Amino acid sequence: MNSADKRQNVEKCNREWLEAYSSEQFEKEFTYEGDDLGAVYSKDSTVFKLWSPFAESVRLNLYKSGDVHKEDLTDTIPMEKGEKGVWSVKVGGNLADIYYTYSVAFEEKFEGAYDCEVCDPYAKACGVNGRRAMVVDLAATDPEGFDRDENPNEQLPVCDSVIYELHVRDLSADDSAGISHRGKFLGLTEEGTTVNGEGTLYTGLSHLLELGVTHVHLLPFYDYATIDEAAPFSHEIYNWGYDPLNYNVPEGSYATDAFDGKVRITELKKTIQTLHQKGISVVMDVVYNHTYNDEFCFNKVVPGYFHRMDRQGVKSNGSACGNDTASERSMVSKFIVDSVLYWAREYHLDGFRFDLVGLLDVDTINQIRAGLDLIRPNIMMYGEGWTLDTKLTKKNVLLATQTNVDHLERFAMFSDDLRDAVKGHVFLEEEKGFISGNTEVIEVLKAAMMGLPSWSDSPEKVINYTSCHDNYTLFDKIYLCNQEITFEEAVRQNLLAIAIVMLSQGTPLLHAGEEILRTKVNAEGEFVSDSVREPDSVNAIKWDDLKLKEYYRVYEYYKGLIAFRKKHSLLRLNSGEKVRKHMRWLETQAENVIAYELQDAGEKLLAVFNAGEEPYPFVLPDSESYDVYINEMQAGDVVLGSVSKEAIVQPVSCMVLVRK
Ligand code: CA
Repeated sequence: MNSADKRQNVEKCNREWLEAYSSEQFEKEFTYEGDDLGAVYSKDSTVFKLWSPFAESVRLNLYKSGDVHKEDLTDTIPMEKGEKGVWSVKVGGNLADIYYTYSVAFEEKFEGAYDCEVCDPYAKACGVNGRRAMVVDLAATDPEGFDRDENPNEQLPVCDSVIYELHVRDLSADDSAGISHRGKFLGLTEEGTTVNGEGTLYTGLSHLLELGVTHVHLLPFYDYATIDEAAPFSHEIYNWGYDPLNYNVPEGSYATDAFDGKVRITELKKTIQTLHQKGISVVMDVVYNHTYNDEFCFNKVVPGYFHRMDRQGVKSNGSACGNDTASERSMVSKFIVDSVLYWAREYHLDGFRFDLVGLLDVDTINQIRAGLDLIRPNIMMYGEGWTLDTKLTKKNVLLATQTNVDHLERFAMFSDDLRDAVKGHVFLEEEKGFISGNTEVIEVLKAAMMGLPSWSDSPEKVINYTSCHDNYTLFDKIYLCNQEITFEEAVRQNLLAIAIVMLSQGTPLLHAGEEILRTKVNAEGEFVSDSVREPDSVNAIKWDDLKLKEYYRVYEYYKGLIAFRKKHSLLRLNSGEKVRKHMRWLETQAENVIAYELQDAGEKLLAVFNAGEEPYPFVLPDSESYDVYINEMQAGDVVLGSVSKEAIVQPVSCMVLVRK
């Protein structure tokens, strides 16, 4: 057979496979339901199982080290094909800390391209840069007391949470952090660190505790591809981590030793345990909607299976990352479900944030929900429910988009309604939001502030935020859409924005560093929208800003808003019915001013948001006296003064009053 014929055969066969993969017949014949894929370790033996229904042969390779640059193969063992396309072999002896790969060969017509050596898609540990998997005795990776570790906020209703979205490295990469485990998981465990290692202004963990957040949501920390784990701080290479390589292994660049597969596991567990001990829950950012590239090992073991492709082999690209995960296929769905449940169980995670969840199917997400509920019922789930153009491989599949949120069980979506109404659209730099004087957004904003944007019927389904790792920071966006703005005016807009987030129904989420006016400016002095590949100098949190009086005041204001929110249950209503019953918009006499009243049997609270340039005389809706808790300068659970009949709300500011 000449090579052109061969290639044609490859294409033909691939095409047949691609069509087969999503068929009922294939799923009936090859859906494996066991929970033992990967390497199942015991002291006496390890059983290796790999799902690869079309492989001609599979061999297990054992290595001394996890480094692909070392030629230290110790054994190659043929595997046997069993039911449902699962290959397996049992190897006697204690294999803990032995590294391994699989060699998978396909029929001749698939040429050399498909005779490959790959990492185990189900790997739970691996060597440096994730090329070789490792057999791991997971019990031996637990830090002391991990068996007693639990979610400190297990009983906390979802809308009572305050989430802080943080990149592991950003917290501690800057000198000013005064943190010794720079860029590492363990950097999150250091208590009492201060700006530049001097003075009394806290950074890192102590800063988070002082701020009062309940949950830290960490950007992806499974093993991702872009950073060289052998030298993570070389060549100014940086990444957010939305480039998944090994889904069930922690990222090696965050460990103090990326070569020993156990270290990253133990250090991550230690970090989660420490945060738990301090009262902070941990949310994991998971990215199942796409993989780093086509070389993803699952895709090599079952060619073309993991991604959505049409008959011609053209990949769907709703993710804009080159591929979309075919979660509607039974073994992809199982892979995702197994993976999330594994993280929840093994690492005691308290929540999962799903990247571009609108590309995954509703059934997979609901299966995860059901599985998590069996582990611990209060595990939080939320995600980006944007509707994207993806080419499904099956008919009648419902995707987990915002508009389908009613089909999901206890799953919240990011509210772009609130985000864009507050500060202007994220992709339209110059577009203004409510805080900058745009009044056209007010109706959308009001619905969003009730936790009831068009797609939601309950605040429990809504994550409120004005900025996150994506796009410009809040402070930068304010500058971009207000060319002539002064620093003082920008601060006022920023404080009004966060007041709206913290005084809205739903679950608030802050972008790390937002509370000290985080900015991302590159070497050319330009604001950076997409800082995924920018160096630490752009991305790291600059803690020494806390030393500046105005920045410190902003931080205090954020802290105060969180404290106030925690004190008032009316701000954390958990159903649409309750919101409609207790929350009422009040009439105002200026188009730039909105005001609401929240009332139940115990309390009456008024909030006024003045985005106008003039002070606004707010006439109280009744003849009672009110205490002021929040004004243009301060926020907190301390009374700042009292008013009756009328309150003056300063330009671009918020005022919150509680009936005496
Ligand atoms: Ca990695």
